[in-house]
Amino acid sequence: MKQKIVFSDFDGTLTVNGLLDPALFEIIGLLKDERTTLIIVSGRSLSWGHFLLTHLPLDIIIMEGGGVVLRKLAPENIDEHLMVDKDTVDKLEFYTKELVSKFPKIVLTADSFGRKTDRAIDKALMDSLGIDVKKDVEWFFKERGISHSYSNVHLNFWMGNISKAAASEHVLKSYYPDHDPMNDCLFFGDAPNDSSMFRFFPNSVGVSNLSEFITQLDFTPRILLKGKENSGAFGVLNYLKEHFSKKS
Ligand SMILES: [Mg+2]
Repeated sequence: MKQKIVFSDFDGTLTVNGLLDPALFEIIGLLKDERTTLIIVSGRSLSWGHFLLTHLPLDIIIMEGGGVVLRKLAPENIDEHLMVDKDTVDKLEFYTKELVSKFPKIVLTADSFGRKTDRAIDKALMDSLGIDVKKDVEWFFKERGISHSYSNVHLNFWMGNISKAAASEHVLKSYYPDHDPMNDCLFFGDAPNDSSMFRFFPNSVGVSNLSEFITQLDFTPRILLKGKENSGAFGVLNYLKEHFSKKS
């Protein structure tokens, strides 16, 4: 039997109430026992990716909402592959400076210093600025060809053809060419920025905390878990336990 791959969002999907939980380590152990690869696909910064790859038993991780693919070649040797060219990276830097000078109340997230292909603003800060500012910012993005999306924690913005799904497709083609998204992969997510993944992976699962965003999604997961006991990492763990017990 071919090896399976589990792709998963991180915040709100592999965490519990915003924190790392023993459930995450149980998920990692279960997937290891089942010889299944875990690939985290997160909107967090590239530098977070270095941390996660260094300290968890993972080989590949996708960060910045699909802007960067990181691969562990050796314990202290991590390869960075940006999904956009340098010109696009420079343009984003230029427009980000313009954004913060035009909207002085906007502060980039603390982890934006470690970002290369996107930037982030705390979702709570955006919500507090009111709908008019939100609309003005979205118009600013539109005029300059900047894309954006909301995760459960951030408003992320970027330039170029970046998506969690495009980076996942790149990873599958480059490193797992005998695996296809239909038969060999599963995806777990919890927010609107996982929408491209719900479209790309026919076998997708939304943890129960996704329900509050369900009307904001362009594409919905095949399965939406229900109940507090299935929120975040608990939902992933419960689903995987059932999935593997049914298969064996
Ligand atoms: Mg999330």
